[in-house]
Amino acid sequence: MLEAKLSRKKHKDHKSCLDISRDCSVGGEELLLVGGPCAIEDNQQMHKVAQVLKNSPVNAIRGGLFKPRTSPYSFQGLGADGLGIVEQTKNISGMPFISEIMSKEHIDIAIDHIDVMQIGSRNMQNFELLKEVGRTNKPVLLKRGLSATLEEMILAAEYIMAEGNEKVILCERGIRSYDPSTRNVLDLGAVAVLKQMTHLPVIVDPSHAAGRADIIPDLARAAIACGADGLIIEAHPEPEKSVSDAKQALSLEELAELMRSLDGIARAVGRKIPDMNRRLARAAA
Ligand code: PEP
Ligand code: MN
Repeated sequence: MLEAKLSRKKHKDHKSCLDISRDCSVGGEELLLVGGPCAIEDNQQMHKVAQVLKNSPVNAIRGGLFKPRTSPYSFQGLGADGLGIVEQTKNISGMPFISEIMSKEHIDIAIDHIDVMQIGSRNMQNFELLKEVGRTNKPVLLKRGLSATLEEMILAAEYIMAEGNEKVILCERGIRSYDPSTRNVLDLGAVAVLKQMTHLPVIVDPSHAAGRADIIPDLARAAIACGADGLIIEAHPEPEKSVSDAKQALSLEELAELMRSLDGIARAVGRKIPDMNRRLARAAA
């Protein structure tokens, strides 16, 4: 990988820690634990998300404003109409917000409201979009393409970094294979390899890898044991009513319980789950 200039480690222990908000960072000792629905649906839904996750180790919230749906006839997301809900969710939870953008127009609409811009799998090699987010100074969550090699993924990160924005977080979210038992195949080897080849934080999305809620806790624990810097997991107040990705949605209580259960594994590999009490104390001050 001769061309990976900016993401490549300068020495064996080189590791970047990125600040996402005052209380939240990724790549340091504390894990980044992101939870929330696939899509922002309405005020009530996100109110519940913020209320429940506020009292859990989750330290950032996700929710799609613009959804990349396989069918043009499926719900495409609330778009700009969801920005007020994002603000309300941030206020109630005191946590930063992550959402996907798919075009320059989306960046302009959302950039002042969200804390991390997600580049979804389907856009991992949308080079013009990568350059656009590279010209901002917001952290970018770059998800692995549906069938992208790790070299392609690292070079996609370089596109962003070469424009001046070095705040890139990589995300393994499963790759396409032949077995329909799971939606994709979670590639934990990728986590180990990416952490060897780059200094960038690497997180894991077991939700889109599995495509089914029942095995997400097992995959999440394996990811942390393997050295991931965090997780991004889909959860919904009423999972079966999710307008998108219902089969892989955990309930908010299941998500909170799963995140709490990671404490022992995190400690075993020299990491910590986020300190919920520090966040709550800061919010109350
Ligand atoms: C998502 O995070 O909701 C999403 C669409 O993810 P991916 O791009 O990994 O499919
Ligand atoms: Mn989804």
